[in-house]
Amino acid sequence: MSTAYPALVLPARRCSWRQGLGRALATGLVFALTSMGQAGGLKIVASFYPIYIAALNVAGGISGVEVISLTKPLAGCLHDYQLTPRDLVTLDQADIFIVNGAGIETFLDKARQQAPKVKLIQASEGIALISSAGAVNPHVWVSITLHMRQVETISTHLSRLDPEHAAAFRQNAREYLAKLEALRAAMHSGLQNIADRNIITFHEAFPYFAHEFGLTVVAVIEREPGAEPKASELAQTITLVKRSGVKAIFAEPQYSAAAADLIARETGARVYRLDPIVSGPPRADAYLTIMQENLRTLQQALDEND
Ligand SMILES: [Zn+2]
Repeated sequence: MSTAYPALVLPARRCSWRQGLGRALATGLVFALTSMGQAGGLKIVASFYPIYIAALNVAGGISGVEVISLTKPLAGCLHDYQLTPRDLVTLDQADIFIVNGAGIETFLDKARQQAPKVKLIQASEGIALISSAGAVNPHVWVSITLHMRQVETISTHLSRLDPEHAAAFRQNAREYLAKLEALRAAMHSGLQNIADRNIITFHEAFPYFAHEFGLTVVAVIEREPGAEPKASELAQTITLVKRSGVKAIFAEPQYSAAAADLIARETGARVYRLDPIVSGPPRADAYLTIMQENLRTLQQALDEND
């Protein structure tokens, strides 16, 4: 997609600082503008796709509140993303910057140095993180339960930072959390009777998801996007697939499935697409619809192999 996310800009009819300015001028008081709401409304910037979708649900559709995504839908996760000069301008003009945290925004220190006034919300705050081989896994949002906590954290901090819109943030969050709750229940009941619970995934995006639904990630084909597996790693994975009897390999729509296809050819396992929700349409219901598709994929893949 070549276009930037459309920003949800709503008319700032009830813009707080303009009302404040009017009152200040009327009464002759000195009015000092704070950084919050300088541009005529509250500007919220989310770091990347899953956090943008969450922010859209909590803060979208509120008069005087703008929600934009810092990054375009990338071809995958945010790992090793470099801030552009334009990103720095966007951040400098923002009031609030919402990130996933847990280390996926490797540019965070630079962003804080370059835009020191922007208020930061770390959506993964307080969540127990999974580590493997000494590295923290940041793909928290792929678990629906943990993503619900992220939505709550975003709502709590937005309400604290912008009390004027707190009731609207909380109401939006309540409605979205009810939808996520229903999705979680549907996925638990949809996956509870599946006999084969072993899966092989494409990159390290699914341990939180697998933990939530009682699946076992037997192997990961590529550690991170862009890191093509070495021949020796491929051979190891092929041996592991054959030995474990795993019949389903889950590639991701954001990446080339060449390695997964090769493993499938060598082992007889089938390749399916499981989406870690790191790209897609800029719509508030995107997390829900992508996850429902994941449920259908898992049912098809794992039921077929009973
Ligand atoms: Zn990733």
